[in-house]
Amino acid sequence: MDADEQGFESLPLSQDSFQVLWESVQPPSLATLATTNTTNDNWLTLEPELNGFDHLFSFAPDVSLPTDNLLTPAASTVPTTSDYPGENGFQLRFQKSGTAKSVTSTFSTVINKLYCQLAKTCPVEVLVEKEPPQGAILRATAVYKKTEHVAEVVRRCPHHQQEDVMEHRSHLIRVEGSQRVQYMEDPNTKRQSVTLPYEPPQLGSAHTTLLLNFMCNSSCMGGMNRRPILAILTLETPEGQVLGRRCFEVRVCACPGRDRKIEEENVSKAQSGTNPTKKRKSNPTPVPSVAQAKKIKFASSADEDEVFVLQVRGRERYEMLKKINAGLELLDK
Ligand SMILES: [Zn+2]
Repeated sequence: MDADEQGFESLPLSQDSFQVLWESVQPPSLATLATTNTTNDNWLTLEPELNGFDHLFSFAPDVSLPTDNLLTPAASTVPTTSDYPGENGFQLRFQKSGTAKSVTSTFSTVINKLYCQLAKTCPVEVLVEKEPPQGAILRATAVYKKTEHVAEVVRRCPHHQQEDVMEHRSHLIRVEGSQRVQYMEDPNTKRQSVTLPYEPPQLGSAHTTLLLNFMCNSSCMGGMNRRPILAILTLETPEGQVLGRRCFEVRVCACPGRDRKIEEENVSKAQSGTNPTKKRKSNPTPVPSVAQAKKIKFASSADEDEVFVLQVRGRERYEMLKKINAGLELLDK
């Protein structure tokens, strides 16, 4: 570590852009990293640090935790997450909200992912080619996306549950604007869902609009805890037989526009062949690319579990960043 540190401290800081970087990297106290990770996350490969903190946080004492949230029972049935338009041609459509800073809810068709702010209205347009039978219902269920979490029921975090007085306060997904909404919990799997009667489009309209709210942030500790989720929307008969199903990923965050933009950029980078390398513990150094990048660019994303590739122009600068990264890796050892 000594040799490395001296090595890169003596290197010239000739580039303005690097200077900026240097200033942001120089005092990486653990506390700073922990508190700023929502705005400045994932520059270089910070994934080990962040995982470390998640680990610490998970042991943080929280006297207010209801005991049934400490050990969430694993459900036996895992909801299906494949799209199925069915005979009724069940489809969803989202308004084009763009990626402006002010946007509270925006959908990426590229990633099939909804980005929204906590408790803000997310309009979802429901379309059918053929009207479902009388009494059909729409149901929204949340499920963890990754296999290792899928058995756990998605619920709100203890903090948000506690500050709420609603009977259905543990439900992550709510539906606004209808008195006929029902909040259900499966007695066997304990999975929660919200239903409302399907209503045919009003005259002159091709769709009905469903207003969804997501009542926790994806980062909520004791709740989603940064684990990605999928929302499953089903069209069902009154008896609960599924007629159609649509799924999309959901991220509830402070800056939906920003996060969508970043993740779409990462996807397009991945498609053009400069995708993040597979996670390798033995070699945490980012792979250099033949970079056309005009300036140092930080790959950043909502998902701390990923390893990112940084495009760097010039070997000297690359070596420098590699050392900073090595230093950060050493920090958490
Ligand atoms: Zn929460």
